[in-house]
Parts: sequence; structure tokens; C-alpha cells
Amino acid sequence: MALLRLRARMALPLVRPLSRTLSTAAMQHAHAPNPSPPKTKLFLDNAFVDSAAVKWFDLHDPATNNLVTRVPQSTDAELAAAVDSAAAAFKTWRKTTVLTRQQIMFKLVQLIRRDWDRLAASITLEQGKTFADARGDVLRGLQVAETACGVTSQLTGELLEVATDMETRSYREPLGVVAAICPFNFPAMIPLWCLPPAIMTGNTVIMKPSERDPGAALIIAELAREAGLPDGVLNIVHGGAPTVDFILDEPRIKAISFVGSDKAGKYIYTRGNANGKRVQANLGAKNHAVIMPDANKTQALNAVIGAAFGAAGQRCMAVSVLVTVGEETQGWIPELIERAKVLKVTGGFEPDADLGPVISPESKARIEGLIQSAADDGAEIVLDGRGFKPEKYPNGNFIAPTIITGVKPGMRAYDVEIFGPVLVVVNVPTLDAAIDLVNANKYGNGVAIFTQSGSAAAKFQREIEAGQVGINVPIPVPLPMFSFTGNKGSILGDLNFYGAAGMHFYTQLKTVTSLWRADDAALSEKASVAMPTQS
Ligand code: NAD
Repeated sequence: MALLRLRARMALPLVRPLSRTLSTAAMQHAHAPNPSPPKTKLFLDNAFVDSAAVKWFDLHDPATNNLVTRVPQSTDAELAAAVDSAAAAFKTWRKTTVLTRQQIMFKLVQLIRRDWDRLAASITLEQGKTFADARGDVLRGLQVAETACGVTSQLTGELLEVATDMETRSYREPLGVVAAICPFNFPAMIPLWCLPPAIMTGNTVIMKPSERDPGAALIIAELAREAGLPDGVLNIVHGGAPTVDFILDEPRIKAISFVGSDKAGKYIYTRGNANGKRVQANLGAKNHAVIMPDANKTQALNAVIGAAFGAAGQRCMAVSVLVTVGEETQGWIPELIERAKVLKVTGGFEPDADLGPVISPESKARIEGLIQSAADDGAEIVLDGRGFKPEKYPNGNFIAPTIITGVKPGMRAYDVEIFGPVLVVVNVPTLDAAIDLVNANKYGNGVAIFTQSGSAAAKFQREIEAGQVGINVPIPVPLPMFSFTGNKGSILGDLNFYGAAGMHFYTQLKTVTSLWRADDAALSEKASVAMPTQS
């Protein structure tokens, strides 16, 4: 009924669901251009609908730059319809029992596992990362959904008998309609950082995936519907800044989860807060890996290579700065280069691919400019991945692993987030100097130390300021029984994504104080006008 009303209001055609089987999902890069591929749909009130957009974003396969789909800039009517749908659904969804919601999440988890490869294929095609890495992208989101199934023990309130016959009880209640604004680099994981905790706590969701790769979010929507999520609990809209501005200014949207760059995040946090919304914003990063002379060399170098160049460096937890401590570790750079050189850079569907392309030609040009800036600033490019073209993918946005030594704070290549397969190396004399370097950095997403010394590790973990610390672990992102705990310039807002903090972000506390007198039958006849002082 709700959908029929919505269609009547917007005159939107209802279209068939996305294909459900892997056999119909592209598992390779198309080498021939297709000038009119299927357009990306909206997901409104549990149906896929064609957009009436006048503006469209062309989405190209980063490995070939062939057109994959066109993503609409949702119209004002479509955006309003999404919020109408979510607001209407909230009235009933908030009243469903936690056990009903849990059953839907159990089912969704099962369906994501079933369609894991299909989700990963969509990511490889639209985002460019390797198929194996795309499966990891899905897994890290799936784990949030799995953990959210434990909502039955995560939402319990507190209770205290505060006076004779009087008790105060706290409840965690949903906020209402909440929004998620997602980046391009984890097309499944980050929608799944938001959706499970938001809906399990009784909210309804407006999701805006990145306009650069919305395919995985739409598959998740299809699976959520199949799992039994009622109409309107999840709506997906598309677009760029106008969609974000709509979300920021729409009074019925109570909270925003944002993950992305500093520029967009600061804007969204400021304007969202000014409009009275709760906002959590995870921003950019510059993650350091510190290698001590007593480290297990092979393990440390392999870990750094994987963390620096995996996903073509387009992870917010990528290691982008290697800090070599002392003179001896500087002698390890030739081996680091050899290990980086053997990585296979090619289209993400190729079975032997280690890293794929970066997201766009603009991003490639920006990264190459930052590499050049390092040389201009006096650093040495000891492995230069610029200009690399895999034979099979001459038109893709490829950059091979790049290593730059002699880098210092103050150089652009150190100061800004490069977000590409580029590792800059800073040498410092001591562990104290390494800690000072990391702590002086404006970001605080992640950091790692490689050492065999328990005391060096213990000192490091106590004194380092970054929010996610790895000891012989290169990408220390906690599983969702904890939260994603970046700090300093890598986050705006007080409540982290997922884990207990995520549940708190999507809920507000209500306390109820009740008095049920035991001697009710013997109430005094005159009203008391003093403040209650029962003890
Ligand atoms: P982005 O900021 O360009 O885009 C993120 C979202 O914001 C998109 O949905 C986009 O449509 C929207 N957006 C972009 N510019 C906007 C503007 N001017 N006004 C309003 N909305 C705007 O980020 P991205 O390039 O997609 O993602 C990469 C960035 O995300 C990197 O900086 C990376 O470090 C960061 N990131 C951080 C984390 C984390 O947890 N800290 C995780 C993943 C990615």
C-alpha cells in the first residue's frame, strides 16, 4: 500500500529487482565499451525505482574506464519520498520486538554469506579492488551485522531502587530516521557499519552510498528485503552534494553517520550539528608503521607492503608512512623495494592480481602530482610506479607501488593523505623520536609498531596517541565487538562507529522513575508539596 501511495505521489515506475544470482553478475572487466549500460536505481519503500533525474554521474570501471552504469542525482521529490517512507516506517518499526528484528538480521547475515561473491564482484567492477580484497570488504561489514544480532544483550537498560518503593529504570530508544553518507573505498563494509546497528535499535535509514560505487549497497538492500525488512526501513538515495544538503537540512532526519574525506566531513559535521542532528564523522588518515631494529624483518616488511599497497592504498587504515628507527633498518629498504616490485598490478578480476587501479583518472593524476612534489621537495623516489600500464588494461587508472625515502614533515607527500599505492619513508634515530613524530601528526586513525621487545611495545602502546594501535599487526582495525576507534583529526563526534558506541549513537536514553507504595492503601489525605526525600 505504502509503495502504491509513493508511486502515485511521484509517478515512479516500479522496476524488477536486481538480478540475484552470481551467474548474472559480471565477473570480469568488459573490454568493449557499452555506451548505454543499465542505469542505477533508487531503493524506495522496498522497491527498486527508476530515477527521474536530469543529472547523472557516469560510473566507469577503474580498470578499463568503460562505462558501467549511470548514477542519478536524486530529484527533490525522490529525496522527499525516501524520508516520507522512512518516517512512516518508523512508526511501526520502532514497535517491533527486538526478537523480530533479530530474526531479520539473522536472515540478512545468511543472505550476505550466500551472495558474498556477487557483492564482491560488484565492488571489483565499480571500485577496482581485487576480488579477494572485495570479499574482505564484504566480510568486515558482515561481521558488524553478525555482532548486531546480539542486540538482545546490548540494549538492556539499567535499574536501581532509588528510594523506598521507588525505582529508576533506563531505556535506550531509537532516534527516528537516521542517514548514512558513505565513501567510495569500502562499498559494502561502510554501509554495513551503519545499517545493522541503526535498524536493530529500531531506527529507519536513508542511505546515500558513494555516487562512485553504489552497487553493493543496492544488493544489500535487495537482500534486506528478502530477509523480511519491512517497507521503508531502508531507503537508498543517490547523488552528490545536493543529496547531502537535503539530508543535512531535512528536520525529520535525526542523526547522520558519515565516513569520507576531511573536507566533506567537516562540512557535514558542522552543518548537521547546527541543524540539531547527532553526527558521527570518520575522516582522513595518515597511518605510520614503526619498524624497530629488533623486529622480525621478513614479517615486518611483508606486513608493511600488504598494508601500504593492498587496495591500491585506498584504505583509511592503509600504512602510508614507514618510520625506520636507527641506522640498521635503513639497510632494509632495498629488500622492501624488491618485495613491492613483485606485486602484480592488474584488473581486480585477474586471479593473480595483488592490487588494482585507483578509483578515477583524477585521483590518479592527484596521486602522481603528490609523488612529484616529494621529488621537488628533495625526497628520493626509490620505486616509481607512475606510468605503469598492465598489458591487458592500458586504459585503467593504474599506479604501481611507489616508495619514497628521505621524507620529512613539512613536505606535502608527508602532510597530506595520498590515498594511493605510495609509501613514504621517514628515518628517526630512536623510539622516542618515532613516538614524537606520530604524536605530532594531526591524524590519529591507526599506527603499528614492529618489534620483538615487550618493553618497547609496552612503552609505545602507552605513549602513542593514535586510536588504533597494532603491535606486530599492520592494520589494527578492531572487530565489531569493539568499536572503530580512530581519534584526533580522523574523527568528529563523540561516539565511534559500531560496537557499544555504535549502539549508543543510534539510541537516546530515557529514564523512568516510578513509585509504587507498598502502603498504598494507607495514603495520607493531604498532598505533599515538598521535594521528595524518600530514603
Ligand atoms: P568523499 O568525502 O569524497 O565522499 C564521501 C561522501 O561524501 C560521498 O558520499 C560523497 O558523495 C559525499 N561528498 C563528497 N564531497 C562532498 C561535498 N563537498 N559536500 C557534500 N558531500 C560530499 O570521500 P571518498 O573519496 O569517497 O572517500 C575517501 C576518504 O574517506 C579518505 O579520506 C579516507 O581516509 C576516508 N575514509 C575514512 C574512514 C575512517 O573510518 N576514518 C574509512 C573509509 C574512508
